[in-house]
Amino acid sequence: MREELQQQCARYVAELFASEDDVLRQLREALPESGLPEIQISPEEGKLLQFLLRAVGARRVLEIGTLGGYSAIWMTRALPEDGVLISLEIDATHAAFARSFIERAGLSGRVEVRLGDAMESLVSLEAEEPFDVVFIDADKRNYPFYLDWSVAHVRHGGLVIADNAFWKGRVVEDDGDDPDLAGIKELNRKMASDPRLCSIIVPSRDGVAIALVNGA
Ligand code: SAH
Ligand code: MG
Repeated sequence: MREELQQQCARYVAELFASEDDVLRQLREALPESGLPEIQISPEEGKLLQFLLRAVGARRVLEIGTLGGYSAIWMTRALPEDGVLISLEIDATHAAFARSFIERAGLSGRVEVRLGDAMESLVSLEAEEPFDVVFIDADKRNYPFYLDWSVAHVRHGGLVIADNAFWKGRVVEDDGDDPDLAGIKELNRKMASDPRLCSIIVPSRDGVAIALVNGA
């Protein structure tokens, strides 16, 4: 399909299946105004995450990489009343922005934005109950570590999801030794070959890698 036609089809899907409400639209528009990068997931990916969370009956979700809370709001809206989402964020400005929009969305009681380096926050999460889903979307060089941690702390039948699996197409180009690219390629390779996982990359925008945790 021509690239232009492909973009039209993506818009068609977004308009038909994944329309934003006022809070999500205002959040997206406020990102650049507040000096935050516009690297949030797309509305179609938000709907894909909702679909996946509902499909596995998710109640406890962990997100690694909050930014402005855009993906957190999409995901939390797919949870039951007693569902919780913990989102890890290293940047205090991002975390404050996210908390204010999570509040506006009426989800403060169900979302906890934990400030700190995820590499450290994950250690303190080890003692808690397992998660139904982990969504990995932070520093790409640590993707392999995040995947290993997630596979160990997601219940059987749960999911590990990672954004930016194509890294703007660079996974198929020979791009030298960039540690972020290497991290993503390693996560993709591990997801594809780990016998405990059934995995695929959904080729939406920048690629969403999905692994179902089955046990050996
Ligand atoms: N999931 C968000 C986008 C996340 S962008 C959405 O789709 O709406 C990636 C985020 O990860 C940034 O906010 C960045 O500050 C954060 N981040 C980067 N390295 C991190 C680390 N080591 N620990 C926690 N957060 C990190
Ligand atoms: Mg991303």
